[in-house]
Amino acid sequence: MTWPASEVHAFRARWVLPVQSPPIRDGIVAIADSAIVYVGTDRGDDQADDRPTDLGDVAILPGLVNAHTHLEFSDLDAPLGQPGMPFTQWIATVVQHRRQQDAEDSRSVGAAIRRGIAESLRLGVTMLGEIATSPWPWDQVSDQPIGGVVFRELLGLSSERIASQGGLASAHLQPGGWGDVWRAGLSPHAPYSVHPELLSRVVDLAKRADVPLAMHLAETREELQLLASHDGPFVPLLRQLGVWDPGVLPIGRRPLDYLRVLAQAPRVLVIHGNYLADDEIDFLSDRADRMSVVYCPRTHRYFQHEPYPLARMISAGVRIALGTDSRSSSPDLSLLAEMRQVAADHVEIAPEQILRMATIHGARALGGESNTGTLVAGGPADLTVVGLPAGQRDPYSWLFDASTRVLATVCRGKLAAGSFDGNADFPP
Ligand SMILES: [Zn+2]
Repeated sequence: MTWPASEVHAFRARWVLPVQSPPIRDGIVAIADSAIVYVGTDRGDDQADDRPTDLGDVAILPGLVNAHTHLEFSDLDAPLGQPGMPFTQWIATVVQHRRQQDAEDSRSVGAAIRRGIAESLRLGVTMLGEIATSPWPWDQVSDQPIGGVVFRELLGLSSERIASQGGLASAHLQPGGWGDVWRAGLSPHAPYSVHPELLSRVVDLAKRADVPLAMHLAETREELQLLASHDGPFVPLLRQLGVWDPGVLPIGRRPLDYLRVLAQAPRVLVIHGNYLADDEIDFLSDRADRMSVVYCPRTHRYFQHEPYPLARMISAGVRIALGTDSRSSSPDLSLLAEMRQVAADHVEIAPEQILRMATIHGARALGGESNTGTLVAGGPADLTVVGLPAGQRDPYSWLFDASTRVLATVCRGKLAAGSFDGNADFPP
């Protein structure tokens, strides 16, 4: 085949990991405009001036997908609180931080989101599942090549907040900047912070507008305790926040009751799912085409939860994506670091499975088009280029090496961050 140099840019890498097909040693990825036009081996029949640019000891992966984050915390230099602190104490710290931020300047939220986007791009992320607590700051994001789903967070345990939060949800879904790059979604926050009627209203809206939902669920033992019997540390926390009303949450509930309500929405992301029981895992595997779980490995570790039921969920057929959560519980927004954490905590999980979680599973969880999260001709040219130690003969072992760095990120055919070591051919 020939490479019309004016339109097609072709790159050779020590390894190409298409995700949906086997790794290719000394592979080629060619892109034209915003799409991939070729993924495969070097056929060696090109014109001399159309030769692919050899990037050397690098691997080309699909753009990484961070399926769960809260970019408004991206200005934090370190997580809030301390590792292993009780979750309810951490929530109180987050509430305090938000109040402070609101008091300072609402524009600082937009600046933090912009900072989080820049960090994500530097780290090879080309798609986000973002939870937003204020109107999306288009003025800060429109010039950025990254995209994804912006889930408007809805919070309200008291019946007085149902109407106002429902109004915020409707407002978020109004046409505006939404399109192929950024799509709208809704996020009823968590069972301990959302009135059941507000949840039903939000599910109904999602159904009518055909948008995805994300909800923090089965995150802590304390949440299960609250739902089952109104016991545990959530009760004093909610009382302290002035929102506790024992009549709002019926006793004897569990995450499965929430999954049944959420399942009425067209697409659902269950955030964390740290303490899902076997029947809840089965419920999700029966609906894996439209319900996914987002595992946030370093946040899981920060709170020192019980071992994550990853192997059980994978063998049941649940689709699992990866998220960083925010800088309020994680040191940065690196998906590679999350993948390393999975590899360290779950030695039984194959590396290609971990890579799928960080790419195609995230894209599918968020409802991206079918070719997102994989390298395939006709798919979007979203690429992550990572540097490798010289002479790597194994396509995966380096993925979990602490020294592995993202060198460049390409979003829809444009270099969005980094460089190819002085390669000047790449379109700006
Ligand atoms: Zn979260």
